[in-house]
Amino acid sequence: MRDIFDATILCKQCNEPMINKIVEKPGAALRTVQCPECREIIFHPGDIEKYKQFNSLKGKTYNVKLRVVGNSHAVSIPKEIVDFIQQQEKIIDDMVRLCFDDMHRISLRFGEE
Ligand SMILES: [Zn+2]
Repeated sequence: MRDIFDATILCKQCNEPMINKIVEKPGAALRTVQCPECREIIFHPGDIEKYKQFNSLKGKTYNVKLRVVGNSHAVSIPKEIVDFIQQQEKIIDDMVRLCFDDMHRISLRFGEE
């Protein structure tokens, strides 16, 4: 399927073809087009939507139960986080990287570094 940003987009003001540009935001890279004349920026509507969703989940604290599984302990990852990651990565790897960051924090990394 072709993306709207594959087409040439003209600036409404200047009638100039806009240039594709990636704008880095904390935790995300958003596709944009920018007018070389007036510098007007248009964000990709799909990327903006994902970024809003990401920001509403980011930093949210969940209380999840620690369960004993054999000799280990397990926690459940809330469905809304798994759903969001699946949307981005299409499929969730059944292996995640777990790191004991400090005495009070364990982090999980999905996907590649
Ligand atoms: Zn312009």
